[in-house]
Amino acid sequence: MSDVFADLVGQDEAVVELRRAAAAAAAVLRAGAAALVAAGPVSGDEPASTPDRVDPSTGMTHAWIFTGPPGSGRSVAARAFAAALQCVHGTGCGECPGCHTTMGGTHADVRMVVPEGLSIGVGEMRALVLRAASTPSGGRWQVVVIEDADRLTEAAGNALLKAIEEPPPRTVFLLCAPSTHPDDISVTIRSRCRVVPLRQPPATAVAEVLVRRDGIAPDVAQWAAAAAQGHVGRARRLARDPEARKRREAVLAVPRRLTGVGAAFDAASALIEAAEAEAEASVTESDTTERAALETALGAGGTGRGAAGAMRGAAGQLKELEKRQKSRATRAQRDALDRALVDLAGFYRDALTMALRAPVAPVHTDTAALAGAGAQKWDAEGSLRRLEAVLACRAAIEANVKPRIAVEAMMLALWKG
Ligand SMILES: [Zn+2]
Repeated sequence: MSDVFADLVGQDEAVVELRRAAAAAAAVLRAGAAALVAAGPVSGDEPASTPDRVDPSTGMTHAWIFTGPPGSGRSVAARAFAAALQCVHGTGCGECPGCHTTMGGTHADVRMVVPEGLSIGVGEMRALVLRAASTPSGGRWQVVVIEDADRLTEAAGNALLKAIEEPPPRTVFLLCAPSTHPDDISVTIRSRCRVVPLRQPPATAVAEVLVRRDGIAPDVAQWAAAAAQGHVGRARRLARDPEARKRREAVLAVPRRLTGVGAAFDAASALIEAAEAEAEASVTESDTTERAALETALGAGGTGRGAAGAMRGAAGQLKELEKRQKSRATRAQRDALDRALVDLAGFYRDALTMALRAPVAPVHTDTAALAGAGAQKWDAEGSLRRLEAVLACRAAIEANVKPRIAVEAMMLALWKG
């Protein structure tokens, strides 16, 4: 038996704060109910307090930002907190209907916004803000969770800001972003939110949860936790999915393959194509299902009166869907490529720590010997330059440089050292 915070790995301080806030939120609801009873049905007196307003000093507030590196559990934390707010005991017991439906993604008053494309548009955000303003059907809170809030467009951010500035009494916004840097979240939104910083969970904590929750053998869990560099979801995939392990091995073979200019370009192509293939595998199925569903809904092939007009409208909707799917595919490719770059950075980081004889465990235990050989050949300085080349490639892609160009530049830098 475990409560909703059990899967938030290695985040003890954040959990303490969220538990306190959930208890305060439950107290607000109880005070509201008590005030209604005290006021009585025909009392003309002003109520002693405005019980629906959430007082920030009580530990609860209406807008939160969860920050931390990818895989640290930002959305896990937001979902768990949402469950605790909907929990009938106000604790996130993990047992009651409020906890169950929130964790299962079916609670009527909890909306999870998971952007599929590269950005969250203003239309989507306006619709969301509007629905978030309605009275919670379960009598507790309307909770809106926005994953990847750093992907809000400027207009969408402004729509959200307006809602956060004048919050409906029972609405809570939970945003997730890598950091509170102005590139990730606007300064004005940040200033109205309480920040819950999550840290990269230690490998031992990640391994522990893989063993306990997913039933993975301890030695496999330890290897996967180290190789995933604190990314819980990635660690689970590596432990369970042979394809993911194969892709990782191919990436870690790159340093060995860089024997000349031609080889560097080949390695760049291989890396890009692997990311494309991985992304395609992940989106193809949902693309086909969505298109079929939309065509059915639009009654494709109809010939009755008005069918021509309906088809013109349908063409527009299909185009819209294709646009969304393309954006999702691009994002999936970027994500796959980024995972590969993080693995590669881990390899050069290992070489660097070995060259410096730093007393830290290697990220990739299975390529430690190779990293050791690199450390001898390149020394600390050469290892650092290579690590920086990988990080520069990630930064360039983040800044919208064409992935192929960024990866080719990186491979050449890795080869030249
Ligand atoms: Zn509960």
